[in-house]
Amino acid sequence: MFGVIDLKYCNIAVQSALIMRKIYSFLIFMLLHIGLFGQDQVKPVPEVKTDYWGDVDGYINRQDKETLNLVEEAIKDNPPSLEMGLTRRMALLMIDNVLHEEKASTRPAVQEFLENRIKSAIEGIRTTNVTQGAVIWKLYNHSYVVKTKSFTFGFDIQRGFRTSEGQVLDKELMQQVIDQIDVLFISHYHGDHTDEWVAETFLAQNKPVVSPPDLWADKPFYGKILHPERKATEVQKINLPVKGIKLDVVVNPGHQEETILNNVYLITTPEGLTFVQTGDQSNEKDFEWIDKVGDTFKVDVVMANSWAVYPDMRLYRGFRPKLIIPGHENEMGHTIDHREPYWLNPVRLGDGKTFPWVQLIWGEKYQYLPGKLK
Ligand SMILES: [Zn+2]
Ligand SMILES: [Zn+2]
Repeated sequence: MFGVIDLKYCNIAVQSALIMRKIYSFLIFMLLHIGLFGQDQVKPVPEVKTDYWGDVDGYINRQDKETLNLVEEAIKDNPPSLEMGLTRRMALLMIDNVLHEEKASTRPAVQEFLENRIKSAIEGIRTTNVTQGAVIWKLYNHSYVVKTKSFTFGFDIQRGFRTSEGQVLDKELMQQVIDQIDVLFISHYHGDHTDEWVAETFLAQNKPVVSPPDLWADKPFYGKILHPERKATEVQKINLPVKGIKLDVVVNPGHQEETILNNVYLITTPEGLTFVQTGDQSNEKDFEWIDKVGDTFKVDVVMANSWAVYPDMRLYRGFRPKLIIPGHENEMGHTIDHREPYWLNPVRLGDGKTFPWVQLIWGEKYQYLPGKLK
C-alpha cells in the first residue's frame, strides 16, 4: 500500500514541478520579450564561432580574414619603399598565400579586403595635395591613378574581379574614383583592363577616354573615344577640356602576343614628368621600338606588367626608367599559375640597384620625387 501512496505522491510532485517549470519558462519568456522589444538599444549578442568542424569554406574564409586583418596592420606601419623590411615582405607573402587559392575570389574576406583597400585609395586621392613630383596609387590589378600638381590621370581603371553577384567593387565606390580622375587611358580590350560602365562615366563627365581602335567598335559611344595613331616617338596632343590642359602623349604600338593591340602610353605631364604603363605588353617583335624609347624620352616611372621583363630586363633597358612599379599581380580572373604573386617580383627585378623598383599592393600609394627615391 505504501508503495501505491508513495507513487501517487510522487506523480503529484512531478506534475507540480512541471507546472512550476512552465510558469518559470513563461516568466523568462516575458522578461526577455520586454527586454528585447521594450528597448530599441538592446542588440543581440553576436555569435562567436569557436570551431569550424564540417565547414571548410567557413574555416578558410575566417583564416583569410585573420590573415588580411594582420596584413592591414602590418602595411600601415610599413608603407611602400625601395627597401622592404621583413614585416612588409611577410605581409606581401601572406596576401599571395590567401589569393593563390582556387576559390579565393569567392571569399567574403577577400572581397572585403579589396573594398577596404580601394576605399583607402579614394580617401587618399581626394585628400592628397600634390605640390611636387607625383603620387601614384595602384588600385586593382593593373589600374593606376597618377596625381600631379596640375591634374590626375588613370590607366586601365575597372571595377575589380567579378563575383557571382557581379563586380566586387560597386558603382557608387568607383564613381568616387572616376570623379577624381581627368583622363582615362586603356591599354587593350581584355576584361581585366576595361570596363564599359567606367568608360561611359568618364565620357559623361566630358573627360577623355583613350584606347586602341579595336575596343567597343560596336557600341554607340565608340565615336567619342579617342584613338590616336599608334606610333612610337610621335608626341600627340590630348585635350582635357575640363582642365584646360593639352597633354603630350606617345601611343607606342605594343602588342600582347602577336596580334592583340596593346597601347603603351608614354605621358608627359605639364610638370615635365614622364610616365609609362605597359598594359599586357608581351611581344618579341616590339623590342624594335622598345629598345629605343630611352634614346628619345627621359622616362620617370614605368608601371609594367610583372612578367614583361624577359629576356634579361630588356623592356627596362629600353625604357630606362628612374623607377619601376610592377603591376598586374593577383588578378583573380587568372588561373593560379598566372595569377602573378608579389614574391616573384624580387626574382624578376633583382635588388633594384640598376633599376630601382617599388612594390605597391591594392590601394597603396607612392610619392615619386625625381632624384629623391626612398
Ligand atoms: Zn591582356
Ligand atoms: Zn591583363
